[in-house]
Amino acid sequence: MTRFEYTAQPARIVFGPGRLDDVAAEVARLGRTRALVLATPGRAAFGDRVEKALGDLAVGRFDGTAMHTPVEVTVRALEELQRVDADCVVAVGGGSATGLAKALAVRTGVDQVILPTTYAGSEVTALLGETENGRKTTRTDPAILPETVIYDPELSADLPRPIAVTSAVNALAHAVEALYSPDANPVVDSLALDAVEVLAAGLRRLADGTDDLDARSDLLRGAWLAGTCLGVAGMGLHHKLCHTLGGSFDLPHASTHTVVLPQAMAYNADAAPEAMARIAARLGVPDAPTGVYDLVVAAGGPTSLRELGMPEDGLDRAVELATARPYPNPAPLTREGMTELLRRAWAGERPPSGAPLASAVAELTDRVRRSFDATANPRLAGLLADLVGRLHGFALDHDLRQDEWQTAIDFLTRAGHITTDVRQEFVLLSDTLGVSSAVDLLTNSRTPETTSSAVLGPFYVEGPPELAQGTDISAGLPGTPLHVDVTVTDTDGQPVPDAPVDVWQSNEDGFYDVQLPDLDGPVLRGRLRTDADGRLRFWSILPSEYPIPADGPVGAMLTATGRHPYRAPHLHFLIDAPGHQQLITQLFVRGGRYLDSDAVFGVKEDLVVDFVPRTGPTPDGRDVDGEWRELEFTFRLRRL
Ligand code: NAD
Repeated sequence: MTRFEYTAQPARIVFGPGRLDDVAAEVARLGRTRALVLATPGRAAFGDRVEKALGDLAVGRFDGTAMHTPVEVTVRALEELQRVDADCVVAVGGGSATGLAKALAVRTGVDQVILPTTYAGSEVTALLGETENGRKTTRTDPAILPETVIYDPELSADLPRPIAVTSAVNALAHAVEALYSPDANPVVDSLALDAVEVLAAGLRRLADGTDDLDARSDLLRGAWLAGTCLGVAGMGLHHKLCHTLGGSFDLPHASTHTVVLPQAMAYNADAAPEAMARIAARLGVPDAPTGVYDLVVAAGGPTSLRELGMPEDGLDRAVELATARPYPNPAPLTREGMTELLRRAWAGERPPSGAPLASAVAELTDRVRRSFDATANPRLAGLLADLVGRLHGFALDHDLRQDEWQTAIDFLTRAGHITTDVRQEFVLLSDTLGVSSAVDLLTNSRTPETTSSAVLGPFYVEGPPELAQGTDISAGLPGTPLHVDVTVTDTDGQPVPDAPVDVWQSNEDGFYDVQLPDLDGPVLRGRLRTDADGRLRFWSILPSEYPIPADGPVGAMLTATGRHPYRAPHLHFLIDAPGHQQLITQLFVRGGRYLDSDAVFGVKEDLVVDFVPRTGPTPDGRDVDGEWRELEFTFRLRRL
């Protein structure tokens, strides 16, 4: 049974384009009247807009926010806060502006209204990271949590793409680490997984340049969800490393997250397989760490600490700092492990895949698919490439073993060996796997007003003997006589005259003529033609259920899977009238056996018909002793 604790962080969220205009109302809502506006150097325009929207409520302005919340900056801002006698701060900017607001709040107790312009997510946490003399320290305090956050996507709409990418990966990191945090619980899991999905989608749109205001709005929502995770769940190796690197080597915050995240995930992959599988599923990739790395590459984000200015000779010290104090992380932190992780991060290498085989197979699949690139027929190229993709995926998903695949090859070989002109094992295989019925549905069932089709089956023989109307196709074989009286029309009910109609069926014991070498055939099959009224009459015998040939590999498969080989009793028709859609179908005997478990999945409701028992005079005056059956049916063909 799951046990967990969850403390919600009580922040008020105001979300939507144009909500910056609500800032005065939000300050008033807190009962505050004197706001100090905090903005980022170089982003004064945001500060101006907020000041304007605040009107008289704005009493001061500080534009000196800096990354990692240096204490000396906070001291200067504090002087300004006291000088203007502010009772709240309104910060507009990225995590740096938020950090300064928090630093002021924890020192003075002033209320905070935050308008984030990046996806840092810090606005919904009670955490504060500050730097002093090159060292970053973090603390948590309820007073740090901002009272109100106004998420206005228009503020981040112009966030330059490179900053947007790293900022979104910064948010992604909060969601990822929340999923394997010791504080994880179902609420956090849901928030984190949604964050992963929405941030990944946003990153893809940043990658392909289709990020409009909607996409930016989604990224902001992802940032909020991920920030909420960061606020309630303890973070692991990744955040620790980023703090160490950022604080000690003065590396840019979000970019450092972007480089380190895939490497830290790979480090934890074996120790947190469930979290990784859930992340991979939301990313839509086989392996989470390489999936994130590839996403960063596609979006043009940084992949190496080298490009962020990290000196190579600082790596040893970074390992030292990262392993100095143990803290919760799924995989134990070893010097060796950290050294390798940081080496890769410094060089920007793709992390080792938690699913190395998956990526090897993916590369192979890609190569095989590309081998069809020169195919002249695009349909053939597409079908083959997709077939290869699915077959490789099948092998991968089931971790297919050599001996299992050899069994499959042997199966197909035996199917080939047993196949002759009159024994079609591959048709049986297609039929018993339902593929024939699926293709039949796709090909022939798009017009509900026509008669349903059914599979051709393995016993059709091209060019059957031409027979006259009224013929008895059973040629005197034993069985209950059956008089067939069918009509062929178009979908308007207009008769289709002179339509060639091939019919074939099994004998009383369930065998087709081609299965009986001693029989002087062809029997129980023939080609007849409709008369001027589209009508066709002939005699035969009542078909009975029969097993499909079960002495080959398909029969072995049926036995192995506990399936019976029987087909429900039926009569085959192939109608190929000029100017009309060809119809291949079967009529099933209502009340016959196996209608609901037909071995080839061929039965359709409208094809189950009455073979009416009769005695006495027959329609054409033929003498029949005892019971005979009568089948009447109208086939409706689509005109071409
Ligand atoms: P940031 O606030 O420094 O912004 C990054 C850069 O983007 C700056 O140059 C800024 O001027 C620019 N910028 C911001 N918004 C812009 C916009 N809309 N258009 C154009 N440019 C814009 O950095 P950040 O990545 O947002 O946040 C990083 C800081 O946040 C770090 O100090 C980090 O420690 C802190 N942080 C804290 C927490 C927490 O919970 N305590 C969480 C995440 C981040």
